Amino acid sequence: SPFFRRLFLPYLLVICAAIGAVGFFSAQHLRESYLERSRLALRDQSRYVSELIAQKLAARDYGAIQAMIKRLREEVDCRITVIDATGAVVADNEADPGSMENHESRPEIREASAAGEGSSARPSATLQQALFYFARKIEVGDGHSTYYVRLAQHLVDLDAQIGKLYTGLAVVALAAMLAAVGVSYVLARRDARPIIELTDFANGLARGELARRYLRHEVGETGTLAAALNAMADSISRLLARTHEDRARLLTILASMNEGVIAADTQQRILFTNKSAAVQFGLGAPPAELEVEGKRLWEVVRSDAILKLARDVLSGGDTGGSVGSDRRTIHVGPLFGRHLEVTACTFPQGSPPEGLIIVAHDTTQSVQYQELRKEFVANVSHELRTPLSIIKGFAETLRDGALADPIRGPQFLGTIERHADQLTNLVSDLLELSRLDGQAGLGRNVPVDLAAVVRRVTEMLLPAAQRKRHRLMVEVDPDLPETIGNADYLERAVTNLVDNAIIYTPKEGNIRVAAYADRAGNAINIEVQDDGLGIAREELPRIFERFYRVDRSRSRELGGTGLGLSIVKHVAQVHGGAIEVQSTPGEGSVFRLKLPIARLKIADAALGA
Ligand code: ADP
Repeated sequence: SPFFRRLFLPYLLVICAAIGAVGFFSAQHLRESYLERSRLALRDQSRYVSELIAQKLAARDYGAIQAMIKRLREEVDCRITVIDATGAVVADNEADPGSMENHESRPEIREASAAGEGSSARPSATLQQALFYFARKIEVGDGHSTYYVRLAQHLVDLDAQIGKLYTGLAVVALAAMLAAVGVSYVLARRDARPIIELTDFANGLARGELARRYLRHEVGETGTLAAALNAMADSISRLLARTHEDRARLLTILASMNEGVIAADTQQRILFTNKSAAVQFGLGAPPAELEVEGKRLWEVVRSDAILKLARDVLSGGDTGGSVGSDRRTIHVGPLFGRHLEVTACTFPQGSPPEGLIIVAHDTTQSVQYQELRKEFVANVSHELRTPLSIIKGFAETLRDGALADPIRGPQFLGTIERHADQLTNLVSDLLELSRLDGQAGLGRNVPVDLAAVVRRVTEMLLPAAQRKRHRLMVEVDPDLPETIGNADYLERAVTNLVDNAIIYTPKEGNIRVAAYADRAGNAINIEVQDDGLGIAREELPRIFERFYRVDRSRSRELGGTGLGLSIVKHVAQVHGGAIEVQSTPGEGSVFRLKLPIARLKIADAALGA
């Protein structure tokens, strides 16, 4: 580890320097002390040799000296050279004095000539070996002649010893280095381990492993750091948990909204969409809202108007448009069969935009409702205008003289009366419808005895049926359960059905009114069947529409308004029921009003039992 290296390298340097210095100084010292010891030993020996040869020198008996020092070779174990004042060698125990060069310039001789003694360590020119020389001046013949005795000793030993010293020191240095490696490794491990582990822990936190905690006990600053990191992990987890919660809540709210929401960044990359948006913008089946994240708006939104809106709002924000102007609303539709009111605004509000939020409100129903209302008003005006113009026309004709006509007068008055009745019917039907529509609801919401309703209607319409010589059959289940609702509305619905059966069935037809419970389907069925004109298959879905009549003029002639079945349908709906029809042209029709069975009655029965 770098930690180890950092710790180890200085150790190594210090050790090397220390051992190098020790080696250097030891070698120096060793050499010096050895030389000093050699010098002292040679000095003693030179004195001894001088004394031995002094007499012979005085006598200049060089041959005797030569013999003497040769003998001394064993005793003093060194080379002995005797030199005269001119530097000429007069005797030598290892070489032939005659063949030796002049020694006057040798440093030890010079020194000795000046100070009486001299020494020098150097390679010997003669013997090609490192030698230590010691020279002593000898005055003989009462100072009349001067000689030098020079002793030389090999220095090979010294170099070998210094070599050994260095070898020893090198071994020690190596051992010390190994020790240093070991020690610094241990130290590095001890000091670095918590740092390495804490770094790993911190990296883990950075990667989002927020459940991790540093559990090992550390002392000192490391301990403080560990505690701080743990505390940081705690607070980050808490914060994150809260953020997650908030986000989940927000997502739930957004998901349950009817409004479609798309959030995108300034590059129009989608950040979020909810279910409603997926449906409104045709992004595909759920969970399509998850798959479009990261795509660009133009890749998924199939409306140029919305894309332009997004661009405009984003660029408006860019150019620093005032707050409020970066919110725009447009109407789009039909897009995938829907009308949308789309609002786009940038976020955050009032600062440079970081993105865009598009909220789409589904206005399909209100648009359709408005269209229906327009159509309805147009239909009503048309329905009202026809009888009114007829009435006005005949009234004018009467005023212009036809009143006096005994035949046409009453005829025209009859027509006026019939159309006035038509108008009355129309208005009362319209009132009825608007009351049902107005969600005043059922008004009185009570159990209704449907058997009584059917009886009242058939009794009331019997004369009309008899006029057309219809056979009117009534079959009511004696145990017919009650339904909950408004008896007047239900009577009106059944009246309309039976009325239609009488109107649209030729003379001498058969009309059957039946009421029975379908307990499995939990419904009461009121069926009105005739063997009259019947209705073509393609007309069937439309006959419940307001003002829809298969044969407009004929229906009007027969007093119809086109609102009868529409009222029946509304009544069925406000009671939680339905109206069904089966019909074959030329054979007849069956209208079936289905109403829910009142639970109250069952509960009563249970209580009574
Ligand atoms: P209307 O006032 O014209 O009767 P309705 O809403 O009651 O209006 O009926 C709509 C149309 O449905 C009628 O114009 C008629 O053509 C058709 N229709 C209704 N009931 C019957 C029936 N029993 N037999 C044949 N056609 C019918």
